[in-house]
Amino acid sequence: MLVRLIYASYSTTDLSKQDIKHILRSSQKNNGEKRISGVLFYSDRYFLQCLEGERHAVNETYLRISLDPRHAKCVLIEYRAVPSRLFPRWAMEHVSFFGGMDNELILKYSETGVFQPFQFTPHQANAFLAEVATISEQLGQALERSKPKLQLEMD
Ligand code: FAD
Repeated sequence: MLVRLIYASYSTTDLSKQDIKHILRSSQKNNGEKRISGVLFYSDRYFLQCLEGERHAVNETYLRISLDPRHAKCVLIEYRAVPSRLFPRWAMEHVSFFGGMDNELILKYSETGVFQPFQFTPHQANAFLAEVATISEQLGQALERSKPKLQLEMD
């Protein structure tokens, strides 16, 4: 059975890009082996993560993640059977806004203009993650296009 799990949490310290890279490295290795896809969002010390895959694999992974000392206060926002994946191409992609988020994006998903993923409804969390993933993909494509050809071939 295919399930989607979304949770929010708060990092226990102010994490650096390097710290996030470490988390992603083990996520991509472990999730790839278990056919779990999803997206990990990080900004203002909040995490919002979607895990999609076989029910037991997702349960086991979430239990492991929830015990990780790098974050706390895990709030389960959504857990349900789904007919298809929202993020089928990503073993675990990530979107981070280290410089803070765009105010318009925050306002779009909040009543108060303050980013509060712990208050997200399942519908909001799905829509928010889909939107930031699209922004991230567009930014990635724009960066690729702006690279000189020689550099692209050397990558
Ligand atoms: P390693 O990654 O090699 O880590 C070994 C042990 O060291 C683990 O117990 C780990 O918790 C601990 N550890 C490593 N670095 C640190 C550190 N800097 N501070 C404190 N403890 C540390 N794992 C997944 O498999 N899939 C996911 O999608 C996923 N998402 C995550 C999202 C968040 C927000 C966080 C905080 C962690 C996530 N993790 C994820 C990591 C997960 O919690 C485990 O650390 C990881 O799955 C263990 O993988 P590993 O056995 O390959 O060990």
